[in-house]
Amino acid sequence: MGVDTILTDGIVPAQLRQRPEALLQVDQLSIDIATRDANVRLVDNVSFGIGRGERVALVGESGSGKSVTAQALMRLNSRVKLSGRVQFDGKDLLSLSNSQMAAMRGQRMGMVFQDPMSSLDPLMTIGDQVAETLRIRGVSKREARQRALDVLDELKVERAAERLDSFPHEFSGGMRQRVVLAMALVGEPDLLIADEPTTALDVRVQERVLDLLDEISRRRSLAVLLITHDLGIVAGFADRVMVMYSGRIVEENEATLLFAEPQHPYTRGLLEAVPRADITVDRLRSIAGAPPAPGARPSGCTFHPRCDHAMAMCSSVEPGETITPLGARVRCHLYGAG
Ligand code: SF4
Repeated sequence: MGVDTILTDGIVPAQLRQRPEALLQVDQLSIDIATRDANVRLVDNVSFGIGRGERVALVGESGSGKSVTAQALMRLNSRVKLSGRVQFDGKDLLSLSNSQMAAMRGQRMGMVFQDPMSSLDPLMTIGDQVAETLRIRGVSKREARQRALDVLDELKVERAAERLDSFPHEFSGGMRQRVVLAMALVGEPDLLIADEPTTALDVRVQERVLDLLDEISRRRSLAVLLITHDLGIVAGFADRVMVMYSGRIVEENEATLLFAEPQHPYTRGLLEAVPRADITVDRLRSIAGAPPAPGARPSGCTFHPRCDHAMAMCSSVEPGETITPLGARVRCHLYGAG
């Protein structure tokens, strides 16, 4: 494709833009779980990359496979079988021993979850919990405590020095989420995986936590994979967005392009469900129906029972992946991939 394919309004297709050097490269990752009756495929052949310092969002309804993908990258779920390739800074994560992987999680990759209380020990002080990763690595108590304080300050935890010896129940929900972020960031990872990090918080607190994450990721050149069901919180944060449906990535593009020109009918449906400050509507639209269970996916395009644009072939022929002129990587027959 030549530069003459640059589109109107100054929009440059994603494939013509410079991408940062890949830090994480996932190729044809599939995730299976053995149930009593059958082997069920939770995630099917997903491929994507995350560059150094890049912020990428993985978006989809609950049950789409996004959290299970995040856990697979960190090898947190021993009940599932992983196949494909996951390379982090040139290392093949799927072939590392458990202890090598544990070291990787503590040092190079951090993760935060939706519910801060599930990550915090109610009987341990905040200071000790944030410092723990460093203590395990052999950092002295004094230095670990100082670095815990520095990262809590960086995350704008008020009166952090005084509160190092406080317990989780003495913090508000928003402050607890900052503490959990501090635990993930104190080891100075290169990649942070944040799985629905703000879902349990009210809208204003959610914005503040995301603004902080944005600030820190820029300052530290920290790559972030943000997992969320809410496309609304992604705008303004992510450089790139991947939309997942029923265990597959159905659309991927740079965030500005995906918001301006969503291609896949599912992405359009998700966007129509996001409240917008510039438009007043009586009722937000939602996508009719629910995603299929992983063990009961319909044939053809798995979105076809819910799709307003479904054609005859959609119920029998699975769409392949194609790149649209806007640079979207998309799986849909509307774009000509068979
Ligand atoms: Fe809709 Fe068909 Fe595209 Fe699937 S392949 S999203 S059913 S138009």
